[in-house]
This record gives sequence, C-alpha cells and structure tokens, in this order.
Amino acid sequence: MNQRPPVPAFRAKRSLGQNFLTDASVLDRIIEAAAAEGGDTVLEVGPGKGALTERLLATGARVIAVELDERLRTGLRVLEANHPNLKVVWADVMGTSWSALGLPEGAMLVANIPYYLTSPLILRALGADDAGDTGTPFRRLVLMVQEEVADRLLAEPGSRQWGALSVAVRQRAEVRLVCKVPRRAFKPVPGVDSAVVCIDVRARWAVPPASPVRFRRVVRAIFAQRRKTLRNALKAAGWSAEVLSEACAGLDPLVRGETLDLAGLVRLADALPD
Ligand code: SAM
Repeated sequence: MNQRPPVPAFRAKRSLGQNFLTDASVLDRIIEAAAAEGGDTVLEVGPGKGALTERLLATGARVIAVELDERLRTGLRVLEANHPNLKVVWADVMGTSWSALGLPEGAMLVANIPYYLTSPLILRALGADDAGDTGTPFRRLVLMVQEEVADRLLAEPGSRQWGALSVAVRQRAEVRLVCKVPRRAFKPVPGVDSAVVCIDVRARWAVPPASPVRFRRVVRAIFAQRRKTLRNALKAAGWSAEVLSEACAGLDPLVRGETLDLAGLVRLADALPD
C-alpha cells in the first residue's frame, strides 16, 4: 500500500518571533480597532499561518502581507489562491521599502509583529527612523506589541517609561490601548504579556519644533543619559555651559530632561543652537 510520508510538524522559530495568535476574541479586537473596509489597503507584517490575514481579507480590504519564513508558503498559497484581494510578498520587511510594496497614501499597518522588530518597525512606519523624517504612507497602525512597549507608547512625561520612543511616536501620532493580551493567547506561549495598540498618525506633529534634526539630537542626548541632570546630559552631547545656561534659564538646574513633556522638549530644542 502506498503510504504518504508524514507531514513534518511545524516548529516555530523563536529567532523570527513566531508566536501565533490563537485567541479569536483578540483577533476580533484587532479587526474592530483597524476598522478597515473595501477600498482600504492594509499591510500585514508576518502573516504566519494566516489567522489575522483571513479576518483582514473578510473586511474587503486589499491586503499586502510580507512574510520571511518560506516554510509558511503552502498555507499562504492556498489563501492567496482563494482571495484575489491578497498579495503575499516573500521578503524581510525591514529590507523592503514601502514604495516597492506599492502602498498608497492612507494605507494601514495591521499586524501581530515579531517582537524583535517592534521599535524599529514602528519608527520606520512613522517615518521616524535613522533615515530621518521620510514621511509615511500610513494613516493608522494597529499592532500587537510587548506590554512593556505599550507602556512606553502610552507613558506620561516624567514616568519611568517616558523615553525617546514615546516622544518620537507621540509627536507623530495619537496612541490608544485597544486591549491587554495575556501570554496564553499565543502558541507557543511567549515569555511576556502583550497589548494591542492603535496608533493614529497625525497630519502634522503635535508640537512642531523649528528644527526636527536638532529636536531629535536633544531628545537622544536627554534619554541616553537619564540619570544626569538636563544640563549635564546636554553638555555631554556637545553644547557648551554658556549656551546651556541661556537656553535652560527658568528651568531648575537640577531638573532631569525626562520630566519634560513634548512642549518643554521643543522649547528647549528651539532655544539651542545646532
Ligand atoms: N500573524 C501571525 C499570527 O498572528 O499568528 C504570525 C505572527 S508571528 C508573531 C510573526 C510573524 O512574522 C511570523 O510569521 C514570522 O515568520 C514573521 N517574520 C519575522 N521576521 C520577519 C521579517 N523580518 N519580515 C517579514 N516577516 C517576518
């Protein structure tokens, strides 16, 4: 008798952040928050076994899904064959430009992202990565992130979680918590709890600085040296004591930069020379 060879079990790769979402109610919350409909274009990073992809396709939106792990080809091929509104691109999302994916203005990024990519991917999606301010095709990001990252995205100025990521994102977007997600919602179970956040991109920065480049430099200097006073952190980044005493006039000399809100950081950056 002809026996089929057994199908090898799929072994999730930790190096690719493969924790597949198995909780239907969490998948529903993501879809509800994204509120995609026919006419929308949605980028999904890491469709994996297609659980979220199927729900996105059911909204009628056009879905472009970028996946790196070729072992997932069989399942995604079937999905692609049955849904003309799905295009799967086999690539590393971090090496792929948004324009190469053909994303129109006003697209959305909706994904249970691999956690090793969280911060760089969010910054890139907002046009806020090291390439400088490149703009973004996205109007909304709905993302599953580590709970600790959600705390940073939602942090209040002066809190332990308020940092360079909070500042970069909150200048460019409004962030809200959609839901917290316990680790048991995934298979395999990850080592941390998670949360879904909805990030709505602003038409313009919340508090526009005179020079975005200098603002970024100031923010970096302050949060790279959190334990230093504001003046010492900026001195270490190259601004002179004289320049600083003028720019920081009116501020408590012992104040730490991390207590400043967006407006305070912008005022300071605008008062400093390049
Ligand atoms: N969307 C699926 C779900 O919710 O169950 C899978 C999510 S899993 C957390 C992350 C997915 O991202 C995996 O399928 C993984 O192979 C893929 N991935 C990891 N690194 C990637 C990269 N650099 N570019 C594209 N996909 C990547």
